[in-house]
Amino acid sequence: MKKTLFSAAKPTGRLTLGNYLGAVENWVQMQDDYNSIFCVADLHSLTVPIEPSVLNDNSNAVFANYLACGLNPDKCVIYFQSHLKAHTEMGWLFNCLTHFGEANRMVAFKEKMQQKKEVLVGLFDYPILMAADILIHDAEVVPIGEDQRQHLELARTLAQRFNNKYGETFKIPTGLYPKIGAKIYDLQNPTKKMSKSDEDTSGTILLEDKPDVIVAKIKRAVTDSDTRIIASNDKPGVTNLLTIYSKLTNKTIKEAEQHFEGANYGKLKAETAEAVVETLKPVQDKFNYYMTHKDEMYAIAKQGVEKVAKYATNKVDVVKEKMGLICPK
Ligand code: ATP
Ligand code: MG
Repeated sequence: MKKTLFSAAKPTGRLTLGNYLGAVENWVQMQDDYNSIFCVADLHSLTVPIEPSVLNDNSNAVFANYLACGLNPDKCVIYFQSHLKAHTEMGWLFNCLTHFGEANRMVAFKEKMQQKKEVLVGLFDYPILMAADILIHDAEVVPIGEDQRQHLELARTLAQRFNNKYGETFKIPTGLYPKIGAKIYDLQNPTKKMSKSDEDTSGTILLEDKPDVIVAKIKRAVTDSDTRIIASNDKPGVTNLLTIYSKLTNKTIKEAEQHFEGANYGKLKAETAEAVVETLKPVQDKFNYYMTHKDEMYAIAKQGVEKVAKYATNKVDVVKEKMGLICPK
């Protein structure tokens, strides 16, 4: 029996190189080894103010990019979160299992709250919905970037709490983080993580960026005045470029440092940009195909949700009954 794996990205924007290196690339490697389930977390996108047409477009684009990056619907399930009611239903039940103080400790909320003019309750609540996303499937493996570690911890806590209080019900999920690339930083502000929801995209590489845009963004990436090409805490910009380069060329950071020994930042930037462009070329071709063949995507999504709905819906029913709700007979 394969273990169940679950992961998702929210269509608050277009997928970035951070999403790819921290998450999606890993998913593609793992889809053979697990009972793999991926969703476009569209409900999570409503936690920040977003125009309906933008959300719609982003949702299509994230789905298309999943396929373009190599998720194969013959090997894994891909669907839109809002097509499976079990997510929101379990989300509510978990709201009533989570302490306010626990939710209030989430660093991602605090960071996002400072950037936004309009802070929605959904933004505060989203780690709880995320716990529901994982636990309705009894996912044991959750491949994510470092930024999601605290949220995954909450999912583990809620699963354990429920099991202790109501009897064994959930499997306890484990986070899987890439060794290199688990956190890719903004090229203009390399102490802040690269995020698809950032309005200013000058430090963000989008999977859809054209080659000349990629080259220009990497050329302008912040480095520092010291010219050595090494990964270290006091050189966040250079470290970030080395991380991207290493991941895309299958080198260790040490090997990348040796490769660039004695070279200048121009060479580091040019070769990193080349590696990004090369990696994204086939992805962009497939992306364009799916964006012009949406019916194919929707058929995959429908098939996907049909495969997982029964298990997830049943899970919610079990939880409701254990919590004392009367289930319809
Ligand atoms: P948002 O700004 O809306 O939160 P995001 O870019 O953080 O967007 P998410 O949808 O929150 O993307 O996350 C999708 C996946 O990508 C998660 O597994 C997350 O850990 C991973 N991820 C996001 N940003 C990075 C990054 N900069 N480096 C590595 N992994 C990342
Ligand atoms: Mg995020």
